[in-house]
Amino acid sequence: MSDFTTEQHSKHSYYLDPDSTPYRQGIFDVIRIFLPAFAWSDAADDADMISVLRGEHSWTLQIGKDTIVLQTEGMDENQCRKKLKQAVYQYFLNLYGGNHPWGIMTGIRPTKIVHRYRDTDMPAAEIKQTIMDEYFLREDKAALLMEVTERQRPFLLTPQEAKEKVSIYLSIPFCPTRCHYCSFPSFCLPKPHLQEEYLSHLIAECHAVGEALSAKGIQVQTVYIGGGTPTSIHAMQLERLLQNVHNAFGSHFAEFTVEAGRPDTITEEKLQLFMTIM
Ligand code: SF4
Repeated sequence: MSDFTTEQHSKHSYYLDPDSTPYRQGIFDVIRIFLPAFAWSDAADDADMISVLRGEHSWTLQIGKDTIVLQTEGMDENQCRKKLKQAVYQYFLNLYGGNHPWGIMTGIRPTKIVHRYRDTDMPAAEIKQTIMDEYFLREDKAALLMEVTERQRPFLLTPQEAKEKVSIYLSIPFCPTRCHYCSFPSFCLPKPHLQEEYLSHLIAECHAVGEALSAKGIQVQTVYIGGGTPTSIHAMQLERLLQNVHNAFGSHFAEFTVEAGRPDTITEEKLQLFMTIM
């Protein structure tokens, strides 16, 4: 980790340098650990500027008047980005302190990171120590992740099998109305012709992807139709989509899921459709 000191900060407002947009989400996720209601400021004038400058052997993180130089020689893009998140975390930990059991492991599937380590020859004790050192997990959370991933292993594909099978996710990004708390990329159900237009593009993409997978001999293992609320579109549209999914990807899936999170969008007709087509 880089050594740095912070100047006195009283502001909770930060503006991201537009040139640093590729790091927007990663930095945002870390700041939210300390400032749960955080939102980027739209104006540079009354906020501290955050910027990331990439050099050949180092990245420079600027937060207000503070400069943090990250040595990145020999690192790939993912390692550099992780180092950036570590630096932002340390910076805000210096400012705000607190006990953050999951450190910078802010994504929705933390087990994925541990499975990547387990796919190598790294011993379990070393993996546990690594996630504590690099992601700042508290010891009990690191132990929990190790236990969960240990139980999951027998049910997961091996790295070789994973090269021959894929899971398909299809998004219907529409809902009857928008929930206030929602963070998913979803929109209020648009006019019918726009729904049709979206569906046509989605179906065309299914066929293009299906052909590309067949050409490489890759099998579709699972299909997940999520959203939004997929059941918010008309039963005839759903039928058209499901038939095209089968045409594009085959019909023998280990799992086929359609999200139906809004009870007001579920009808007997749609349920019958799922029973017959899936
Ligand atoms: S139903 Fe789900 S996806 Fe749709 S707006 Fe509400 S929370 Fe978001």
